[in-house]
Amino acid sequence: MQQVGDLVHKVVSLMLDHLANAAHRPPLPVAAYRPQLPLLTDSPIPEPPLLGELKALLEASMNPAQPGYIGHMDSLPTTVSFLGDLAASAINNNLLSLEMSPALSRLEQELASELARAFGLGQESGGMLVSGGTLANWHALAVARNRAFRALHPGIVGLPQRPVILASGTAHASIAKTAMLLGLGTQGVFPVATDANSRMDCTDLERQVQQATADGRQPFAVVATAGSTTPGSIDPLAEVAQIARRHGLWLHVDAAYAGALIFSDTGRQRLHGIEQADSITFNPQKCLYVAKTCALVLYRTCAAPKASST
Ligand SMILES: *Cc1c(COP(=O)(O)O)cnc(C)c1O
Repeated sequence: MQQVGDLVHKVVSLMLDHLANAAHRPPLPVAAYRPQLPLLTDSPIPEPPLLGELKALLEASMNPAQPGYIGHMDSLPTTVSFLGDLAASAINNNLLSLEMSPALSRLEQELASELARAFGLGQESGGMLVSGGTLANWHALAVARNRAFRALHPGIVGLPQRPVILASGTAHASIAKTAMLLGLGTQGVFPVATDANSRMDCTDLERQVQQATADGRQPFAVVATAGSTTPGSIDPLAEVAQIARRHGLWLHVDAAYAGALIFSDTGRQRLHGIEQADSITFNPQKCLYVAKTCALVLYRTCAAPKASST
């Protein structure tokens, strides 16, 4: 216990020293780091070289705690986030099931429900934590596909019509990857035109839906982006929602980046229309300053057991 405590204190003070001195190091990684210790070995490695290796690793790493660092999407590490990860690792529960992690799984459900309600998804809403926005997008579109084509068990091989997802050219690269992994191929995403501000052009969206249908394909989902990765644009969510509803399309809003505006009294109205989404991707690891990885997929209708039941 004493020895464990000593080691914990040494490592934590090394980390604190490192963070407290962040201003004295450049934000960019400075060294071409190569591990000095053997990575696979049968002999124990004593403490001093282990701590030395850790120090070298920290010093060679990108330094987002530098006050001059301009965080695009990788935020600076916050104290509570650092400590939260420490506590989570200390108990190492498996969030696979309530049985395996009764407390953390309950916390996950409650958090997802609160966030879903904050986005205006209503009383039936909920969701789950996933390790990244890419997986959140994949999860949401898999549900949309399975629902539209009753594909959960039979899959989509042999469907009479090819399924189509509509997303603008500024949508995140994970949408095309998702289409590939869902068996639609990257050609299963029809790129909708954008306006001069990189926002989805709703006239083109309407046209593409009609064209795809006329060509014998079956559009089933539209992905609107709230905070596109490069230009940071927000698609006209309310207008997109209207078109989605008219054509019976699943509306997924990828709000990985700009979803945090929901907590801003002045910025919230820029997400107007997001409350009509069937599903939302949201990354607290971006604008909420939570350490990676922390992402959520949220659903308007969530079949997961309610947090209040067992
Ligand atoms: C960052 C981002 C993603 C992907 O999130 P990861 O956590 O990196 O997988 C998806 N969509 C948008 C709009 C993003 O900015």
